[in-house]
Amino acid sequence: MREPTDTSLRRALRRAGDGRALDVTEAAVLLDARAAALDELLAVAGAVRDAGLADTGRPGVVTYSKKVFVPLTRLCRDRCHYCTFATVPHRLPAAYLERDEVVAIAAAGAAQGCKEALFTLGDRPEERWPQARAWLEERGYSSTVDYLRACAIAVLEETGLLPHLNPGVLSWAELQRLKPVAPSMGMMLETSATRLWSDPGGPHYGSPDKEPAVRLRVLEDAGRVGVPFTTGILIGIGETLAERAESLFAIRRVAREYGHIQEVIVQNFRAKPGTAMHGAAEPGDDEFRCTVAVARVVLGPRMHIQAPPNLSDPAQRLRLLEAAVPGADAVPRAGEVAGHGGAHHARAQDGYRGHARTLVHALPVWPRRRRAPRPHAHRSAARHARAGRPPRRGRRRSQQSVYWGRHSRRPHSNADTWRRPGCVHSQHGDARAPRRSGARHRRRGAGPRRRRKRGDHHRDGGRRPGRD
Ligand code: SF4
Repeated sequence: MREPTDTSLRRALRRAGDGRALDVTEAAVLLDARAAALDELLAVAGAVRDAGLADTGRPGVVTYSKKVFVPLTRLCRDRCHYCTFATVPHRLPAAYLERDEVVAIAAAGAAQGCKEALFTLGDRPEERWPQARAWLEERGYSSTVDYLRACAIAVLEETGLLPHLNPGVLSWAELQRLKPVAPSMGMMLETSATRLWSDPGGPHYGSPDKEPAVRLRVLEDAGRVGVPFTTGILIGIGETLAERAESLFAIRRVAREYGHIQEVIVQNFRAKPGTAMHGAAEPGDDEFRCTVAVARVVLGPRMHIQAPPNLSDPAQRLRLLEAAVPGADAVPRAGEVAGHGGAHHARAQDGYRGHARTLVHALPVWPRRRRAPRPHAHRSAARHARAGRPPRRGRRRSQQSVYWGRHSRRPHSNADTWRRPGCVHSQHGDARAPRRSGARHRRRGAGPRRRRKRGDHHRDGGRRPGRD
């Protein structure tokens, strides 16, 4: 790509301001906007954001999420050069959190007002670490994904929190199996630049799950399965501006094709001590805001764009609001269990004090994903998400069938349950809901419905089985 010039920058700004569709080259040019050009770009992006909020009847709203982190395992088969989350087995008391520990963390969060359990974990640790494999085998699970599913069901049914799953790369079949137990899932694309994965010394070299083609395939499969999905880009890991723009366009293409991307995160690289990239340069404040603004312009007014507030200081968070972020994410750091609920709200308010915007809590699955026929949260998970809405005006809280921080008053007994070896209470064995017609016939004492064959109509005198 040619170097951006003043003329190309002015032209791209004018087109963005006019609401014209940008191409990758123009987006890459805008990613280089600084000083007065950056101010102009921020104004355009802010107007796009505000138009989207007004269109959905939420003008001036900033959302945040009350969530508790559940670090299911810190083992991972990948070796990202900037990662501080993954570690080695001998530094951990156990390869995974026990199921009871998971429920205890979620229950502590629920007691303090959290609505969401954000499962964080490494990618398929059992394929690299024998300790992880042995831990799962001892408990009868064949993979991390199987165990994650069991824990998500436990959290959903025992605490009422909505699981948001981040297990990394998943197959189509795994997405199908996880969909009924989680209203939303996520996986960062990070970058579409293959060279950062394939070239020795690149930040993703040696990490099989970070191949961009594999991650794009997961985004597409999530779209085919219809999972409300969060993804995003990681900026400042060595990608060029053109590659950054291409990553945003790759997300936009998938989002437009399947309509399942509900949130895009723009995450800034931070050089953390103890990592291979501890000496690498971090993206500056202007570069970060510029990227958020370009993401807003490229992805349009209706996309939820989020910048992780735990990677910015309070002043920077306010500046990010000007860069067209409607979503704040007032989260504690991974593993931090105390201080949710009220503390969340207080922290989020602190971060945005002095800004004329309304702070609103958001569930992990956005309302239009709960209602849309497709892509949508699975009916079992959506029922839990619907129950998470605030009580209607004029209706006593006790009249709600389910409310947060307590156990369900009307337990969702038909939420499907994974059949673990030896488990006798599984209803369906897998992700299918019970067949209503069969249940109706059993109630009438007619026995399960048998498959009708050609000619039955004449044999039973035209009557349907089970009817008088
Ligand atoms: S995939 Fe990379 S960033 Fe994620 S936990 Fe594994 S090593 Fe860390």
